[in-house]
Amino acid sequence: MEVKTIGVIGAGQMGAGIAQVAAVAGHDVLLNDIEARFVDKGMAGIEKSLDKFVEKEKIGADERDAALARITPTLELGDMKDADLVVEAIIEDLELKKQVFARLDEICPEETILSSNTSSISITKLAAATKRPEKFIGMHFMNPVPLMKLVEVIRGHLTDDATTKAIIETAEKMGKTPVECNDYPGFISNRLLMPMLNEAIYCVMEGVGTPENIDQIMKLGMNHPMGPLTLADLIGLDTCLHIMEVLHAGLGDSKYRPCPLLIRMVDAGLLGRKSGRGFYDYTEG
Ligand code: NAD
Repeated sequence: MEVKTIGVIGAGQMGAGIAQVAAVAGHDVLLNDIEARFVDKGMAGIEKSLDKFVEKEKIGADERDAALARITPTLELGDMKDADLVVEAIIEDLELKKQVFARLDEICPEETILSSNTSSISITKLAAATKRPEKFIGMHFMNPVPLMKLVEVIRGHLTDDATTKAIIETAEKMGKTPVECNDYPGFISNRLLMPMLNEAIYCVMEGVGTPENIDQIMKLGMNHPMGPLTLADLIGLDTCLHIMEVLHAGLGDSKYRPCPLLIRMVDAGLLGRKSGRGFYDYTEG
């Protein structure tokens, strides 16, 4: 099936980025959120990002204008009746996502593919909120969406081959590199990344090294572009903790237990960049 119109639910950081790359790829996009101020913010972010691409001569001003014109902001979930593919990118809340998918299942024609950009929730569980689990799939974009190449394509327990093929083609059309995996806690990206960040936090807790030294060792020795503690601060320590809890609960192995220092920092409100302090201090810009 050819995907022409793409619906994006949630116009936050990820949803706006997904809407942008879909529109640049030539898709008509319906960008939905719950309040006008959120869609407005999403649209402003898209415009700013596209302006940067024009400045860097990656796209022409005419392409920017055409991409913007292809995005229709909407507060009506009912507008998704025209979408061939819906990508959900609302907040990471299982019950809320299930409610949205149950409604989308009623609104969208039976051939519409439903997908989620969740970082940690089971695709199979979300698919079960619909009557089309074979047409349900994970499309896990990376942040910032316009710059990051990967889309982790997660097959739920009942996802069929035609859906997977359509999603791989759509991601490629968006200029991304789709990589398939199956639906287990954390998928592949967070199953490997988060235990590494968690272990770096254990190293801080046990006094093996300072955050600066741990980051330097991973940058200079392993060629990581960013040290694990800088990355944990960027992702948000609350998000890291949440994903470790998902891995721990879902895989049941003590090797996934969240580091006590991570728990304590989240309790203290030290969430990283977004709160101004985490392993590093961001209060002075
Ligand atoms: P965000 O908080 O920036 O945006 C979420 C948006 O969803 C908000 O604008 C909110 O108003 C909207 N929303 C909430 N309920 C809604 C509803 N019922 N209908 C429509 N819109 C609704 O969050 P984000 O960082 O963009 O994350 C979105 C999803 O992407 C989450 O599932 C997250 O796990 C996943 N994700 C995030 C990242 C990241 O680095 N931020 C990376 C990969 C995946």
